[in-house]
Amino acid sequence: MDSMVVRMRHTKSHTANRRSHHALKKTDFAKCANCSALKRRHTVCPSCGFYRGTKVLDLVKKVEKKQAKAKAKKAEVK
Ligand SMILES: [Zn+2]
Repeated sequence: MDSMVVRMRHTKSHTANRRSHHALKKTDFAKCANCSALKRRHTVCPSCGFYRGTKVLDLVKKVEKKQAKAKAKKAEVK
């Protein structure tokens, strides 16, 4: 039985050359206008739930919901 046929050999330098474009770009962080925490641009602020001056997410409600869910799961296991 024949082993796998290698059709084209890529040298280390060719591989490295190709991968020279694979680096990740750094992301910019912006200050939240409401709570001045660092957040990613064009996203809802994760610490206060504001986006462009308006409240979009009710974070307190979200946390409560998460806790309720975890509690329910714990009860289910028991
Ligand atoms: Zn904020």
